[in-house]
Amino acid sequence: MTLLRHTPKGEIKPRENLVVNPAKTCQPIGAMYAALGIHGCLPHSHGSQGCCSYHRSTLTRHYKDPVMASTSSFTEGTAVFGGQSNLLAAFETIFDVYDPAVIAVHTTCLSETIGDDIPQITKKAIDDGKVPEGKVVFHANTPSYVGTHITGYANMVEGMVKYLTKSTGTKGEHAAVIPGWVEPADMRELKRIVTALGVEHVLFPDTDGVFDAPMTGKHVFYPKGGAKIEDIARAGDAKVSFALGPIATRAASEKLTALHGVEGEVLDLPIGLSATDRFVDAIRKAYGIEVAEEITNERGKLVDLITDMEQYLWGKKVAIFGDPDQLIALTEFLQTLGMQVRHVVTGTEGNFITKRLTEINPEANVKVGGDMFLLHQWMKNEPVDLLIGNTYGKYMARDEDVPFLRFGFPILDRQGHQHFPTVGYMGGIRLVEKILELLMDRIDRDAEEPRFELQM
Ligand code: SF4
Repeated sequence: MTLLRHTPKGEIKPRENLVVNPAKTCQPIGAMYAALGIHGCLPHSHGSQGCCSYHRSTLTRHYKDPVMASTSSFTEGTAVFGGQSNLLAAFETIFDVYDPAVIAVHTTCLSETIGDDIPQITKKAIDDGKVPEGKVVFHANTPSYVGTHITGYANMVEGMVKYLTKSTGTKGEHAAVIPGWVEPADMRELKRIVTALGVEHVLFPDTDGVFDAPMTGKHVFYPKGGAKIEDIARAGDAKVSFALGPIATRAASEKLTALHGVEGEVLDLPIGLSATDRFVDAIRKAYGIEVAEEITNERGKLVDLITDMEQYLWGKKVAIFGDPDQLIALTEFLQTLGMQVRHVVTGTEGNFITKRLTEINPEANVKVGGDMFLLHQWMKNEPVDLLIGNTYGKYMARDEDVPFLRFGFPILDRQGHQHFPTVGYMGGIRLVEKILELLMDRIDRDAEEPRFELQM
């Protein structure tokens, strides 16, 4: 906090080789989150204990729930001789002691640097009888010196398609829905929307009922939620797939097309009015259906709220940072609300992200592969009325005395994000509600006595 006070305003000097307060975290966290969206799955971190502890604890702090994962527990010897014997021993112990239906192996910086060949080790484990009949082992490469937690999520979801989907040769009428990295409540909301539209579907990964499982007084190692392995397999026979969030899900969608000929629609995350419209419309067109009244009514409620409260939103300046699929949809939604998105920073790199963000708002300062130090400098040079991002933004918000909406990953100092969706029209209503509360609280806080109004 004190250090942040030294963030200089004025001229911004180029920093090619120095990142200060990165707007990202490492690949395996995304892989672990995705893997836990399979029912009965134990994520396995092929690396050192410290990596696995960090990944688990970040998810645990975000959800305030213990997160289960195992590790190959590398030591100095493993760094020299490779991790094969550790992984073989791990498979045996895990199936013996923890009895998961699936082990999803992801790599770490160290195992990638060593060059461990996970498919070869897995094959040896199967040949040696270390993987019991009916159990599944699959993997994703998640070297953390490239990409971010979103890359790790994307790689693990692509791995699900590669290893777990099957084609019987007969296409069904069902859809495959592949959500980007969203909260369990969002996954539940996506299923509700598609069901309300009358379309049978499989959604994977699905952390609904995993990270927001109820307290029952009994410990269960594997919660009731998560996509079942047989349901993920059915995605190979789907009529169409809807991949929501191009950065996190395009690879999985393309793999599903390449392997099984499933036609793929890659869409933005359905956050906000227009992106949800496009999602609903894509389903309507693919299935030739009328949009259900329930969904049309929800849209109408969101439009009504925006119209009623427009005077509090119009022209307000916003800075946002976080994950690219969220930023793309959120920037568009904030523009719809009449707000001015001034500064956008994501730690994930890619020309597509810059292109989409500048298409939506050519006026904004956009930095892809940027850090929060730069965002703070931008905020000092051009102040904003609202900051949106994960928990790490609270220091900048305090320093600049700006209302702060916690959104994205990780949120370490508030709860509720896992229970209340921000996708779809109802999620849009929740977002507008939260934004309005912050902006209107600020009006109340700053109002002089004669202007402190009961009715707003
Ligand atoms: S960046 Fe690499 S070494 Fe560090 S925790 Fe992530 S996987 Fe482990």
